[in-house]
Amino acid sequence: TSIPTKRLSNGVEMPYLGLGVYKMTNSEEALNAMTKALELGYRAIDTAALYNNEVEVGEAIRASNIAREEIFVTTKVWNSDQGYDNTLKAFETSLKKLGLDYIDLYLTHWAVPDKFVDTYRAIERLYEEKLIRVPGVSNHHEHHLEKISTKANVKPMVDQIELHPYLSQKPLLNYCKVNGIAVTAWAPLGRGKILEDETIAKIAAKYNKTAAQIILRWHYQNDVMSIPKSVTPSRIEENMNIFDFEMSVEDIEAIDGLNKDLRTGKDPDNFNF
Ligand code: NAD
Repeated sequence: TSIPTKRLSNGVEMPYLGLGVYKMTNSEEALNAMTKALELGYRAIDTAALYNNEVEVGEAIRASNIAREEIFVTTKVWNSDQGYDNTLKAFETSLKKLGLDYIDLYLTHWAVPDKFVDTYRAIERLYEEKLIRVPGVSNHHEHHLEKISTKANVKPMVDQIELHPYLSQKPLLNYCKVNGIAVTAWAPLGRGKILEDETIAKIAAKYNKTAAQIILRWHYQNDVMSIPKSVTPSRIEENMNIFDFEMSVEDIEAIDGLNKDLRTGKDPDNFNF
């Protein structure tokens, strides 16, 4: 199976599904999971300076023998490295650890107050210098994106946010759609918590799919990219087998209706920076 891609506002194609690698800090476990994913057909990996596994991401890519341009690599600048000059330095460090000469998507990890605009301006410069293919942000609310849009020449093309059936983020999704900003869901499975939901179980039985597959398919049919994390080979495979069926509008709406505005992580406005 090949994973479909979404065309971003500058024409770059980004896979709808990638491997999230947060908490893969055991080097061997991380390498094995990344290698397995690439073997199975994953073509996107979502890391961050914070995750402490950029070295392994680079190693897995080189060991795969897949052409560099076929793989979409995302990494992020951590909060303590924000601001214009620091972001440029942090980018250099990430690039070296990855052992790459460009990064596909570079994100501000969280909107650090008084710094996120300058951080984004540095990301914009990296884009102008063609060191990244796509400039983006993560954990930005509408008001952050609005502030950036008054100071930047190029709008962020991706916002990576916490998003799953218990946190459907409809107003932000609509804002992003209107403004040509693609959305990636982090904790797309709600960090495992939603897998026992009864409504999802019923829908899963109907399509003969697992709860995880139903949730990931829901993201896809809502035009959202996702980056589920797993180190278990059978789950890594399960999570990508969502492109061979289609859910009805009624079932998508039933899952939309599960929203509880429930976060598994921090609210971007209350991070305690
Ligand atoms: P997730 O929703 O992907 O849940 C991961 C957990 O779900 C795993 O630990 C695993 O136990 C379980 N799981 C995965 N596939 C399964 C399956 N098929 N069946 C049963 N259980 C399964 O949550 P996450 O790891 O927090 O988020 C995914 C990725 O998003 C991260 O790895 C990271 O790349 C990214 N992320 C970004 C931010 C950010 O601030 N930008 C924050 C958190 C995570």
